[in-house]
Amino acid sequence: MHHFDYLIVGSGLFGSTFAYRATRAGKKCLVIDKREQLGGNVYCENVEGINVHKYGAHIFHTSNKQVWDFVNSIVEFNRYTNSPVANYKGKLYNLPFNMNTFYQMWCVTTPAEAKAKIEEQKAEAIAVLNGREPANLEEQALTLVGKDIFEKLIKEYTEKQWGRNCKDLPAFIIKRLPVRLVFDNNYFNDKYQGIPIGGYNKLIDGLLAGIKTRTGVDFFAEYKDNWREIADKLVYTGAIDEFFGYKLGKLDWRTVSFKTRIENTPNFQGNAVVNYTSHDQPYTRIIEHKHFEMFGGDVYNVPKTVVSEEYSTEYKEDMEPYYPVNDERNNKLAEEYRKLAAQESNVIFGGRLAQYKYYDMAPIIEQVLNLKEI
Ligand code: FAD
Ligand code: UDP
Repeated sequence: MHHFDYLIVGSGLFGSTFAYRATRAGKKCLVIDKREQLGGNVYCENVEGINVHKYGAHIFHTSNKQVWDFVNSIVEFNRYTNSPVANYKGKLYNLPFNMNTFYQMWCVTTPAEAKAKIEEQKAEAIAVLNGREPANLEEQALTLVGKDIFEKLIKEYTEKQWGRNCKDLPAFIIKRLPVRLVFDNNYFNDKYQGIPIGGYNKLIDGLLAGIKTRTGVDFFAEYKDNWREIADKLVYTGAIDEFFGYKLGKLDWRTVSFKTRIENTPNFQGNAVVNYTSHDQPYTRIIEHKHFEMFGGDVYNVPKTVVSEEYSTEYKEDMEPYYPVNDERNNKLAEEYRKLAAQESNVIFGGRLAQYKYYDMAPIIEQVLNLKEI
């Protein structure tokens, strides 16, 4: 049988970027994936001429020029800027919280008026704290943006997303939401953002061009016991607890599920992302996929559209593991698995499943670009 320098388990951004670099360093790689297609969670399915983000909407954003130049050397990125809109009981508000939102909420038209209004809205909650730090998400939100925004744009959305009361959630979840006294609906603060022109599959195809791949192949079924016979080293991007046969126990995950349908109209909601911030709808948001890649009048060149309702779902066996659960039990258990991983020779554990950490796409690529030896 062929001998490889690397057997790479998982064709997501970690595995694919690794394979790209290793191949250019003269190494022979075999990339396998248990799914029927390559790309991991950035894989898109073409439906009615639209790239549908099958495993969740993905928006690439980074301030790292090296990462941005690298991905653009594989495929050019478009100018998509994420500007979600929130729908609360039929009324629309721009996100993140900025002058547009404050105008929609209170009809204030200048930054000074907005600032005064926010101060007024926060006053009660700040008085209640009486100098101590916010102890939970509700207190954090109330002291950051005040009552109206908390009640209309945060409270119920957060409860849907996390399945818990805002008083029982940690404050840090909301800390990163920007509050801006300018008219700027750009959700991210990063210098660069966009979507690959032609979709994410183009990025994956570019990374894996000329590299041997096999899909529909589970590492545990075919290679676990004999991979050393075909490759010198293993790059493993699957779940870390599964690698060790769950011998210390199972890690938990949070997941989301999607109800995707075709709508017989060229433009369903006029934006890629609309958050539904009240309990009136069971889903947290609706994604209209074409708006990631079609702008202005181009939207009307494709007669139909594809939309996905996104639901927050309790993780059960056989579901897609999406987000690590940030609690004491899981963090401790992951740490124990990481110790086991450090003892494995010739195995690199990489990516979000093997590290049990939430990473955006850009940091995943950055990690691989920064690996000293490949
Ligand atoms: P993955 O893409 O998950 O790849 C792992 C691969 O390994 C999978 O294809 C899997 O099938 C394969 N595999 C696992 N076990 C085995 C096995 N036993 N045998 C063979 N193959 C196996 N990031 C952003 O920057 N912007 C966003 O907007 C964004 N949105 C997101 C939305 C959601 C819902 C989620 C979950 C993540 C989002 N991310 C976003 C993060 C992004 O998805 C990750 O950074 C990226 O996918 C990580 O790549 P990876 O290679 O580590 O993992
Ligand atoms: N959030 C909210 N209303 C919104 C959007 C976000 O209250 O319309 C809160 C919610 O608690 C969420 C947090 O902000 O968990 C972070 O949201 P973000 O969209 O940044 O994260 P993601 O959902 O992509 O993980």
